[in-house]
Amino acid sequence: MIPSDHPRYESLLLREKIVQAFKKGILADSGLIAHGRGEAFDYMLGEETNAAAKKAIKVAAAAIKLAVKPVFSVNGNTAALVSEDMVELSQLSGGKLEINLFHRSPARVNIIEKVLKDAGAGEVLGLDDQQLKYLKQIKSPRATASAQGIYPADVILVPLEDGDRAEILKKTGKTVISIDLNPLSRTSQYATISIVDNIVRAIPQLNKEIRNLKGENIDNLKQLINEFNNQQNLKETLQVLDVRKYKSLHD
Ligand code: ATP
Repeated sequence: MIPSDHPRYESLLLREKIVQAFKKGILADSGLIAHGRGEAFDYMLGEETNAAAKKAIKVAAAAIKLAVKPVFSVNGNTAALVSEDMVELSQLSGGKLEINLFHRSPARVNIIEKVLKDAGAGEVLGLDDQQLKYLKQIKSPRATASAQGIYPADVILVPLEDGDRAEILKKTGKTVISIDLNPLSRTSQYATISIVDNIVRAIPQLNKEIRNLKGENIDNLKQLINEFNNQQNLKETLQVLDVRKYKSLHD
């Protein structure tokens, strides 16, 4: 039992969720380590959605609204932490949910499908290994995508993605929206729109922005995207992470 006045209360609750998800088989063991890396960055970022992340989330909402075939990729950590918010995102936008695992096994695919269905999902893609296609003909398990989802998608949201895969997706010409607490990860560096924030805050905020943009005209949505400079936005995040500034707060 974590006392609610513990300074790391929220963070420890998430850690507990992740541990439980691992025990249920939703997460691979490396998912635990990935979460730890995320925790460290979140600590440094003050465990809040900073201005640069808010901007990227708004632009991502515009891109999803303009998309013809938006797809939202779901891995173990995403299913463990935000399955209901992911289902809401797909319902709000008409985008599809696709299970996309780095350490793929039929058992994990099944359990993640169940987590999503229990959270209210209708169709879930990426279930059948035999039906997966290779992006750009790259014969690597990291280049697989379902023929109805990620393969033809024009806009794809990839929370906690592996850098190699993010690069492949970007090379296919898709708009890649990443959610990754590390602004220096290859995923954040490759993505078209990099959201540097904890997924537990980013997805609810993305849903809110999609609701806010309801009825917004297409030119305004396009303008939001055109005026956005991802590299500049990442630089702003790095300023938040400035360790020397952080240290001086504690001196
Ligand atoms: P890359 O291959 O992109 O350079 P990596 O090897 O660091 O990155 P992985 O370990 O595959 O990437 O993925 C974990 C990434 O997810 C880390 O960058 C980590 O900061 C991030 N991460 C972990 N938990 C969360 C979370 N809850 N919300 C957002 N990002 C997270």
